[in-house]
Amino acid sequence: MDSHMLISTCPWCGKVNEFSTNLLNSGGPRPNDVSVCWTCGGLGRFDESMAVVRMDFAEQTEVFQSRVYQAYLAAKAAAKAAGR
Ligand SMILES: [Zn+2]
Repeated sequence: MDSHMLISTCPWCGKVNEFSTNLLNSGGPRPNDVSVCWTCGGLGRFDESMAVVRMDFAEQTEVFQSRVYQAYLAAKAAAKAAGR
């Protein structure tokens, strides 16, 4: 995983996140990339200004079924087990 400093606000819980971690190691986030809030797990999408906006139900369903979301769940479980 590679991490990039990028301040964004979760559109679900309001948490300000200071970093973005890319589970695919393909560089920093770009417009239309998926965002998952580390605090609440809320799904968002980066808009053209790199603000995170809410996904609609159909978009969220597609992400929940993806291997990337499963990688997020595994990374979060590992971080929790390590006490982070
Ligand atoms: Zn959140």
